[in-house]
Amino acid sequence: MHEWALAEAVIATVIEESRKEGLEEITKIKIKIGELQQIETEIFEFALNELTKAQGTSLLTKMKVEMDTERAIFRCRVCGNEWGFDDAGLSEDENEAIHFAPEVAHAYIRCPSCKSPDFEVLQGRGVSIESIKGRG
Ligand SMILES: [Zn+2]
Repeated sequence: MHEWALAEAVIATVIEESRKEGLEEITKIKIKIGELQQIETEIFEFALNELTKAQGTSLLTKMKVEMDTERAIFRCRVCGNEWGFDDAGLSEDENEAIHFAPEVAHAYIRCPSCKSPDFEVLQGRGVSIESIKGRG
């Protein structure tokens, strides 16, 4: 159900931003979804649509939603090397497992350079709004 919570947060942010910018109509928003974010985009889109309708305001009636995937990037805490999924040398099954449960990433992924399991996730987590377009 967290798709609904995320959609609510997105709509709330869009409305807040449009007030700040003095927009009367939102035409397009771009949402970035991290590769490691567990999300059903179909449910998320549906939730966004339903919540938009529920707002009952002309502010959002013309809003189009575009979704982008943000690539996951990891950084080794030992040698400072940075890499993405493509460079991690994982099998397809392992990739699937990680996409399904990001917390298992540490069980599978090692720094391709020094083989250390001690790394941080630089990007590819969470959902954020990349841009909001509208008319004032
Ligand atoms: Zn390393």
